[in-house]
Amino acid sequence: MAVAKREIVTHSPEETIENGRKIGAALQPPALILLSGDLGAGKTTLTKGIVSGLGAAQEEEVTSPTFTLVHRYQAARRVYHVDLYRVVSFHDFETLGLEDVFSEEAVVIVEWSEKFSLSTGWPVLRIHLDHVSEDARRIVIEDVPASDAAANAAASPITNP
Ligand code: ADP
Ligand code: MG
Repeated sequence: MAVAKREIVTHSPEETIENGRKIGAALQPPALILLSGDLGAGKTTLTKGIVSGLGAAQEEEVTSPTFTLVHRYQAARRVYHVDLYRVVSFHDFETLGLEDVFSEEAVVIVEWSEKFSLSTGWPVLRIHLDHVSEDARRIVIEDVPASDAAANAAASPITNP
């Protein structure tokens, strides 16, 4: 099935948060959100909006899980915010216990998702962020239906960088 793809350019962190809020408000759990892009591209900033749009926390409560690795927000919906930046080995990745997370009807948001392959039967939203200039970011959003996401996961073995 074709993958729906859209692209936006934001010109401030606030505009990125606002777009994240719209993404979050439209999400139907369960959903896996795979964020990719360089340091400072805006992954955490976008996540503030997504979590706030889901009604799971206020944007200022959402901070980077760079050192803590996984944050859990829970109000009406359970949301996991994961950062794989500092996760180096496959062993460390497995130790996170993400498979338990996928047994719930949750929303799972993963920064640096390009580092490891995550397999789930859930619908996937793939979001890539790029620097355009100091305050401008290109955000490319791809909807991957559950059936395609499962096929992708099966076709790509988990990598061990
Ligand atoms: P990442 O999680 O991808 O490393 P962050 O969201 O933590 O990135 O940081 C993005 C940085 O870029 C923040 O300091 C933010 O204020 C700044 N910034 C500037 N313009 C934008 C924009 N349009 N969208 C998002 N962040 C922006
Ligand atoms: Mg971040």
